[in-house]
Parts: sequence; C-alpha cells; structure tokens
Amino acid sequence: GVEINVDHVSAVATGLAGERLLTWRRAFSAGGSAGQDVAAVAAIVRRVVGRMARDERQVLGLAVAVPGLVDVQGVVRLAPNLGWRDADIGGDLAKALRDPGFTVQVDNDANLAALAEQRFGARAGAADLVYLTGEIGVGAGIILDGRLRRGALGYSGEIGHVQLDPDGPACRCGRRGCLEAVAGIGAVLGRDLSPAEIPVEIEDTVRAARAGDAAVLAALDAAGRSLGRGVSVLANLLNPEVVVLGGYYVPLAPWLLPAVREEVSGRAIAPEGGGCEVVASTLGLDAAALGGAARVLDSVDSGRLPGGISRIS
Ligand code: BGC
Ligand code: ZN
Repeated sequence: GVEINVDHVSAVATGLAGERLLTWRRAFSAGGSAGQDVAAVAAIVRRVVGRMARDERQVLGLAVAVPGLVDVQGVVRLAPNLGWRDADIGGDLAKALRDPGFTVQVDNDANLAALAEQRFGARAGAADLVYLTGEIGVGAGIILDGRLRRGALGYSGEIGHVQLDPDGPACRCGRRGCLEAVAGIGAVLGRDLSPAEIPVEIEDTVRAARAGDAAVLAALDAAGRSLGRGVSVLANLLNPEVVVLGGYYVPLAPWLLPAVREEVSGRAIAPEGGGCEVVASTLGLDAAALGGAARVLDSVDSGRLPGGISRIS
C-alpha cells in the first residue's frame, strides 16, 4: 500500500498473513500536478518492488490512498488539498510502471485506513467502525455491518466538508467553516504549516501541553470541541460502536479526547451517545498505506487476484 498525501508519501508492504515487511515514509509537497505526483509515487513503487524482488518476493497488488473523492472506478474526481481533479492516477501509475504485472487500485485515504483498522487495529473485527483522518484534511472511512460503505458513486465519508460554522475560516474546498477548517491539523496547531514543519510543531505542542502551557491547553480543548461536534454528527447518523481518531490526532489524543468525548455525550441524541466510543488509532501515521495492503489482502481473500492464490487462513 502507498499513501500520497498533502505533506507526505508512505509505503507499507505486508506478506500474505499481514505481517509487515517494509514501512517507509517521507515528507513530500504534493499538489504540483497529478502527473508530477504520480511520477514520484511510481519511483517509490519501483523501489519497493525491487526490494521485494531481492527478498525473492512477488508483489501481488498495490492500492494507493489519496486524500480526495475517488469514484467507484478508482478515478480521483476531486482532491481539494492537492488541487487534483479527474485524475486517473491508477491508470497513469500502471503506465509509468510499464505493465507491472500486478493490479493497481486507488481509494480514499480514510477508506483505506478504516480497512487497516478493521484488519489490524486495536478494534479489529468491529462491525461498525468509523475512522476519522487527522491529516491536513479530515475525512471518514465508514464500516457498517462489517463492510466499507462507499455510497452511490464512492464519495461517502466527506465529513471534513460538513459545515460547522457558516462564518468560520475558509476551507480549501472553496467553502467556509467546514469541519476540516475548524478541526483539521492546521486549525489544531493554529496556522497553515509546511510539510516539514508539521511533525516539529506537533512535538512542540505535545511538549507544551505536558508542561501545562495554558494557551496550548486551551487551543487543544477548543479544537477537541470542534472535532467532537463532528464526531457527534457521525454518532447520530451512523451509531458506530467506535470512532477511531487517526493520523496527526494520535499524538495529540491525550488532550483532544476528553473534549471530544464530552461533546459527543452531550450532543448525540441517543442515550449515552449511542454507546459510541472514541479512541486513538494504534496504527500510527501509516494507517492509510497499511490499509492499501489490507485492500489487496481483501482481494486475495475473495479470489480476485491472479496467481492461483485462494483463501489465506
Ligand atoms: C478530503 C477527503 C480526505 C480527507 C483526509 C479531505 O479534504 O476531501 O477525501 O479523506 O481530506 O485526507
Ligand atoms: Zn471544505
């Protein structure tokens, strides 16, 4: 699995039993153009394939996570924080890799991260689970009755662009006061940051919060409340058993979670928030890339990949 996001690219390779063979991550400024970004991803995939070949392993499939609306055919229709529209990056990638001999699938980052949670996360096997990305953008991957739900065209889960505040800050989608504009990592940290700055700023924030810095604690509490309003929408709409906060929310979770949980129990209509637990992901920053591998494993499990491989037990 490979994730291409606004500020980083990651790759994860697993074996057929889901064991991790490789994890790789690099800061990256995406959004030059889909073509340039695809060339960068192709270079990474070539290196991973080469590494696997040296270990006498064969790559059976690749799924690429992108931070945007991916239609059921796998075409990226809109990635607001990358500036991509109608990009067939799966096709372009297969071309750039010159007939790689394995399938290339493309999916939304939150969808793939939800698949990773379902297979590898602390709540693996949960039938009703929502994964909420804490990337530059915010999106949800929705698993109901054990299955990832994509909606009619594949665009479900765009909670990041649900408007929480009509007078709120501008969002990269062109609207105002969207959840990601008020509770995305940029809003949590208080300003737009370059890819290289984000991890450093998060470390500083964690340090300041641990030291009891009142301004930082107040900012995290406010961001947690906005996030909690978003999660209460999910709780009312879907009644999940668990909402997993992922990505950059994870290191900040000790300070975000109390406010999020309080908002959810106060705002959801069902008694006790419909039992909706909110937890931090244990899969770290590579959840979407790992989810790419999970999606390939799902295809293998259901016999949809070549190579004579049937179910893995
Ligand atoms: C995009 C979503 C994506 C999320 C997280 C949002 O801006 O619209 O599709 O899942 O960011 O990257
Ligand atoms: Zn928006």
